[in-house]
Amino acid sequence: MRAFRLLALPMAVAAFLGLAGCNKAPPVTTAKAVTAGNVDAARIQAADHNAEWVSGGRTWSEQRFSPLEQITRDNVNTLGLAWYHEFDADSDRGMEATPLIVDGVLYTTTSWSRVHALDARTGQLKWSYDPRVDGQKARDACCDVVNRGVAIWNGKVYVGALDGRLIALDAGTGKEVWSVQTTDTAWPYTITGAPRVVKGKVLIGNGGAELGVRGYVSAYDSETGKLAWRFYTTPNPEGKADGAASDKVFTEKATATWFGEGWKKTGGGGTVWDAITYDPVTDLVYIGTGNGSPWSHQARSDGRGDNLFLSSILALKPDTGEYVWHYQTTPGDSWDYTATQHIMTADLTIGGQPHHVVMQAPKNGFFYVLDAASGKLLSAEKYAGVNWAEKIDLATGRPVDNPRTRYLKGGLSRLSAGPNGGHTWQPMAFNPRTGLVYIPAHRDGFTYKQDPTWQFLRGRWNLALEGAFGPLGPPDTRPVEKLSAAGEAVLAKLPAGGGYLIAWDPVQQQPRWIAAEDNAWTGGVLATASGLVFGGSDNTFNAYDAVTGKKIWTDRTAAAVMAAPATYEIDGVQYIAVTVGYGGANAMIGGRFPRRPGRIYVYKLGGTVKAPDFAPHVPAPPLDFRTVTASSGNVAHGGKLLADWCLSCHIGGIYTPDLARSPRLATPELFREVVHAGALRSRGMAGFDAWLSTQDVEDIRAFLLGEARKAR
Ligand code: CA
Repeated sequence: MRAFRLLALPMAVAAFLGLAGCNKAPPVTTAKAVTAGNVDAARIQAADHNAEWVSGGRTWSEQRFSPLEQITRDNVNTLGLAWYHEFDADSDRGMEATPLIVDGVLYTTTSWSRVHALDARTGQLKWSYDPRVDGQKARDACCDVVNRGVAIWNGKVYVGALDGRLIALDAGTGKEVWSVQTTDTAWPYTITGAPRVVKGKVLIGNGGAELGVRGYVSAYDSETGKLAWRFYTTPNPEGKADGAASDKVFTEKATATWFGEGWKKTGGGGTVWDAITYDPVTDLVYIGTGNGSPWSHQARSDGRGDNLFLSSILALKPDTGEYVWHYQTTPGDSWDYTATQHIMTADLTIGGQPHHVVMQAPKNGFFYVLDAASGKLLSAEKYAGVNWAEKIDLATGRPVDNPRTRYLKGGLSRLSAGPNGGHTWQPMAFNPRTGLVYIPAHRDGFTYKQDPTWQFLRGRWNLALEGAFGPLGPPDTRPVEKLSAAGEAVLAKLPAGGGYLIAWDPVQQQPRWIAAEDNAWTGGVLATASGLVFGGSDNTFNAYDAVTGKKIWTDRTAAAVMAAPATYEIDGVQYIAVTVGYGGANAMIGGRFPRRPGRIYVYKLGGTVKAPDFAPHVPAPPLDFRTVTASSGNVAHGGKLLADWCLSCHIGGIYTPDLARSPRLATPELFREVVHAGALRSRGMAGFDAWLSTQDVEDIRAFLLGEARKAR
C-alpha cells in the first residue's frame, strides 16, 4: 500500500498542474492511462489508513468506519453545510446511495439508476449519466426505483440499472464503456444494489422475489463486461444443469431441500439484492440471499424443506464462484425474512480467543456472528422484538420456532418481525475502538395468512398471502402475539414504535444503548474514530456519542435521510456527505412525505451554507363529482383487482398519488389512458393492458369512485 501511494503521487501532481494551467485535465497519452477513478485492490486495502471512501462500505470489511478524527464530540456542534447539490427533477424517488470519494471527486447515484460525479470540495457537477430506464420498469420494483450506489475500479464507474443492465462508465467523462444485460427481460428482475469489484471482476445481483424470479449473483470481467461466472441461489425449475458455478452444490445437497411445484413457477426467490462483501483474509466473497417466492412456504414448497439457499449467507470463491460454505438464517422462510442485509467482517475476541468473523443483522431480528473461514455459528441473539422463534440453537445452528409461526392450514400469525424486518438495507457500522455495531433498526409486525387460491401470474406480486396489501386503509397496528420470554425482554428495552438506533455489543450479544427516533425508520449509519456515529431520520441528520448514545448534534434536512453517510478529507478538511431524499419501501407502503428532488448534503466544521426548504406539500383536492361519468363497473371485483395490482404501490400516504382523489377517475377514457395504455409511464406509472381488460379497469374505477365518495 505504501508503494501505491508513492506511485500515485506523480499522477496527482500532473493532474494538478494540468488543472492549474488550462483548467482542463491533461490529454491522455496512452490508451491504458487512468486519469480518474484509479482504484485497485491495494487502494481499497489502504483505505484503512487514508482519507478517502473508495468502496461501498469504505474498506473490504464493509465496516463503514473512518479513521478521520477532525470532527469530534467536542466540536461537532459547529458542523454546518460546506455545500449541497440538488439533483434533477426525476430524483424525487428514494435516495439510498452512499457516495464514493476518489481523488477529490464524489460519485453517487440517484433514483432511476442515474450516476453523478461532483467536485468533492465544491459540489460542482462534473458529469451525469442517465441509463434511460423505461419508466414502466417501476412496475417490477417492489420498493421504489432506488439505487444504492456505484463501484469504482481502474478508471471505470460501475452501476447496476433498474432494468437489469450492468454498465461501465469512464470515471473521467461519464461516457459508457460497456453495458451488459444481466437478467432475462421476460422476467420482473430489477437491480437496486451497488456492485462490488473483486480481483478484476464486477459482482452484481438482482431483486424481484415479491413478483417471482430466481435469484443469482454474477461476476463480469471489469474491462470487457464478459460473464466470468454465475451462482444461482435456488434450483433450476426444470431440473436441468445451468452450466453455472452453483450446479455442483445443488446436485450434492441443495435441490433435495425443495418440494412441491410452487417454486417452479416463480423461480423460488432468494435474490441477491444487496450485500456482497469480499474478505482478503479468507479470500472469500460473502453474499446475502433474499426471501422465498412466493412468501408462503406452504404454497412454495408444500411446507416442507429448508429451501437452500433462501435467506442465507453464502461464501463463494471470487475467482470461480465455487461454493465454500453457507449459513441459512431462516430455514423454510415464510415471512420475507431476507438475509440480504449488510454483511461485515471483523476481528473480535470472544471468550478470550481471537476470531475473524462475519456479522449480519438480517430482517428476522437475530444478530449473527459466524466464523469467516468456516461459516460456523458462534452466536445469535435478538436485537429486535421477535416472536417467530424462541432462540437459535447453537448446537444445530437452527431457530427454535413453533408450528403456529408457519400459518399453516388457514391459520393466521401476527408476527414480529414482519416483512420490513428488525433491520433492512440501511447499512450498519462497526467501530473497532468501542467494539460496537450500530444498527439502524425498527419495530415491525405483520399479519400472515396464506391465500389458498393463489395462482402464479407473471408480472404481478406473487406472495400467496391473503390481504397482505389491502383494502385501502390504515396499516394494521395491532400488537404482535405474545412474544417469547426472551423476545419480551428485548422488547422492554426498545422504544414503543418506529425506528431506533441500537449500539450492539457483538461479543456479549446485547445492546449497550438504544437511541429512539420519532420516525418510522432510521437511516444508514457511519462510525468515526473520534467516537461519533452519524445517521439520518425523518427530516434530520444526526450525530450521536458512540459510547453513550446521546444525540449531540442535529440538522434539519428538509427531507428524510435514509442513505448512509460517507466521510473524507481533502486539504486537511474533513467532510461528511449524505444523500437526502425520501422514498423506498417505507414510502411505497403509506409514506408520510411527498416526493421531492433528491439532494446531497456535505458538511464541515464551521460550514455556513443553508439549503432551502421545499415548498409546502399541497394535497390534491377531492374529486369534483360534477365532472364524473358514473360507472356501472363491478365494485367488489374492482376492489379485488386493486388489491392484486395497485396497492403494492398505491397503499395510501402521500408519496404515490392518492387514487381516490385522481381527476383521472372522471371518465372511463381518462382512467384507461393511464391504467391501461401507460400515459404516465415516463413518471413510473406503467400500463397494465397485458393483464387487465377494459372491463377490469372500469371495475377498478367503480371501486375508487366509491372510495372518493367516502373521502368527501
Ligand atoms: Ca422481499
